[in-house]
Formats: sequence, structure tokens, C-alpha cells
Amino acid sequence: MSLYNFLDRYLFLPMGDLAGGSRVAAELRRMQREDFLPEEKIKAIQDAKLQRLVKHCYETVPYYKQLFDGLGVRPEDIRTREDLRVLPVLTKQIIRENYDNMLSRAVDPKRLRRSSTGGSTGTPLDFCTDADEWSSWKASTLRAWGWYGVHLGDKIFSFGGNSINQKKVFLSPKGLYDSIIMRNHKFSSADVTEECLQSHYESLMRIRPSALRGYGSALYILARYIKEHGLPVCPIKAVLTTGEVLVDEYRRKLEGVFKAPVYDAYGAGDGGILSHECPRHEGLHITEEACIIEITDREGRPLPDGEIGHVCTTDLDNYAFPFLRYHVGDMAYIKKERCSCGRGTRLIGEVMGRAGRLMYNKQGTPISPTMLPIMLYPDLNFQIPEHRELYNKIDKYQIRQDRQGDIAILIKLKNGDEPKEQFNYILENYRKHFKESEVSLQFVNDIPCLPSGKEDYCISEYEHSYA
Ligand SMILES: [Zn+2]
Repeated sequence: MSLYNFLDRYLFLPMGDLAGGSRVAAELRRMQREDFLPEEKIKAIQDAKLQRLVKHCYETVPYYKQLFDGLGVRPEDIRTREDLRVLPVLTKQIIRENYDNMLSRAVDPKRLRRSSTGGSTGTPLDFCTDADEWSSWKASTLRAWGWYGVHLGDKIFSFGGNSINQKKVFLSPKGLYDSIIMRNHKFSSADVTEECLQSHYESLMRIRPSALRGYGSALYILARYIKEHGLPVCPIKAVLTTGEVLVDEYRRKLEGVFKAPVYDAYGAGDGGILSHECPRHEGLHITEEACIIEITDREGRPLPDGEIGHVCTTDLDNYAFPFLRYHVGDMAYIKKERCSCGRGTRLIGEVMGRAGRLMYNKQGTPISPTMLPIMLYPDLNFQIPEHRELYNKIDKYQIRQDRQGDIAILIKLKNGDEPKEQFNYILENYRKHFKESEVSLQFVNDIPCLPSGKEDYCISEYEHSYA
């Protein structure tokens, strides 16, 4: 451990917690202590947290008070994760219709963190979290990095989309946190021209990070560039992928080029799911102290382990905007077996449907699918309220590519009478990236699900014949 690692863990991180009202350092200590708890102990922690959360929901969240009363369910009826089944599933549609009533009346509005999602399924959603939820999320990530020998204070080279594209002001609390505590060097995968990739490569060699982190497809584009140009690479401890299904081809390429193991993670900010591969690569360990995951059919009936179904999550740490039995919009299964590493947490076997396919512009340059939803924002920045309002007028979207370069963007608006011209910026954003391509914007009444029942925002018929 270097001096920086030591100072970061025992000085900078606690100072960051103090300044931001979070408790990442304490959560990390607890999670590391409980890393190898047996399954029954983890379940007992989950059940105790669930009872506290359900009581809180009933007493302070109008939506749940009404739901419980309507069903004739009392908070004390729900004592274990099996008892949760008396509740119906929570959908994105329900949340949108009840947004204000989903907020807890007991949480100080100043502590709320507004957030939005939509990248994975094509259905945008606004929701809130608070500092406690964020602390648990960060701690779970840092614990997993520790499994790979990547510690707080090690430099991280991040290559990806939306969160990375946000304007970073170095002297803001977030900027300082990112730079000094997380040592996160962020690069946008929005532009993947030869010049940009060369400049990213040069930054990588200058920074010499311990780990690379980003969307599998975005890192794959960088790896492909490095390989094609026969460039040398600095020693890397781990490649950390997240945000989409990691295609085998990308994993092999990343391991080959960066000469480091690839560790995948699956998470969703809405619903508070987080799961990470351990060095045994037998599946994704669910952070079960922080969330309950069920795999259910469309109606919310639980399916046995090993069967593919809808991911249904109960976030045990979000007291600001609680999610009880929330259908995230992903399909996955839970493995029947536990991991040979000895951890007692259940494993997600595979997540299906999060797009990992590339699209191509006319020049044949690949574009990571994770960039596509970001371009639905006027200036690629999630922080400006009026931009959020425009984005929030979109009910669903889908981006399709049938031929190289040509792109069709399908949009279903919440209110079909909205003037369409206000969305012309979407065309401009896409044309900037898909140079010389035919880009069309089509307003439609419905975007049907795939035959599997999964929603998917990115449909590429083209990639297989090209890559
Ligand atoms: Zn394991």
C-alpha cells in the first residue's frame, strides 16, 4: 500500500464524508468485515433492514400508505423477503404517475439527490436517492475493487458515457471528490475518431492507471485501436466493465490487449442493485446487504433459481424514494450454486438484453450503444433543469440501424401533441456522430417490446455482418 492509498483511506475519504454528509468510509469498513458472512447471516441482515424500511414506507411515503391500506396489508406482515410477495410489482409507469407521492415526507429535501435513468431500456425515469444510498453504493464498489487488488487511492482511467460526460468543475465538491479521493481520470467515449482515440491512448500512457473502467463496448473500441496500431500498453491490474452486457468477444479482446483480467459489474441506480464478479468469474455477487433481488415473471410471481425472468429489486438503503419490488426492465437469472470463493451471497448468472452491440457510422467507425441515449439530451449534460424537462417529455425511444451508417430514431412522446420541432437537436446530435449518414427522427405511437418481453433501446441488424 502506498502512502497515497493510506492517506486516501484514512484521511481524505473520511474528510469527504464529513463535507458531503455521506458515510462511505464506515460502510466500506462494515462491508469488508461482512464480506464472507454465511448465507443465513446475510439473510438475517436483509430481513432486519427490510422490516425497518417497510415501516418507514408505511409511515412516511403516501404511495405505500395507500397501497398497503388498499391491500389490507400491515407493515408488520412483511418480516422476510418471502413476505414481500404480498405486494404487487412497482413499474416505471407507476413511479411516473406517482412521483410526488413516492417521496418520503421524513427526508430533508436538502439531502435529496435527483437522478434519472433510461439508458438500458429506452424508458427514461426520474427518481431520487440520498447520501446514505450513495454511501452504500460507493462502498460496495470499493469493496469489489479490493477483491481485484485495486484500492482507494489507485488511479482509475474511466472511459464511457453519461456520468463521464457531465461537465466537471475541478473546484466543485464533486470534482474534488472525483479527483482527490476516487482519483478518477474521466474520458468521454462520445468521439471515437482516430485523433480522439490516439489522444485517449496518450493520456492512458501518461496517467499509468491501476485500472481501466467503462462500458465494455467503449473500452473495446479503444482496445481495437491499440491493437490495430501495434501500440504498447502500461501494466494494468484490472479492467472493470459495467453498464451493459459484456459480450465474450469484447472480454477476450480487452484481456488480450490490456493483459489484465476483466471484471464485470451489473447495477441499476433505480432500484439500488449492484453486483460484481469476483476473481473466480463464476457469476456476479449481489450486494445483498443493500438490496433484495427476486427473479419473477411479468406479473411478479417469483421464479425458481436458474430460470430467466424479470429482475425485481427492493432497495434496502433508499429511504428518500423507496423502491419495493421494482421491475428494473432487465432479464436475468440467479444461479442455483454459490461461488467457490466462499462468499455467501447469491450470484446473478447472466443479465440479458442490455445492449452490447456496436453501431457504425459511414466511415466504419464503431459507436458504443451506451452513447446513444446520451445524445437525446440537448447538450449531453444531465444537470441543467430545462434540458431534463425536454428529455422527460420522451416516454420511450429506440435507435435502429439496418444498414451501415443509416440510423432511425423512434420516439414516443408522453403527450403526442407536443411540438415536434423542439426535438430537432436530437437530429443534430446524431448527425455529429454519424457523419454523412442518413439520420431520421420518427415520432410513433408505440414501441413494442422484443418477442422475449424485454425492452431494448438499441436494435442493430447490421453489426454481425461487419465486426
Ligand atoms: Zn465469488
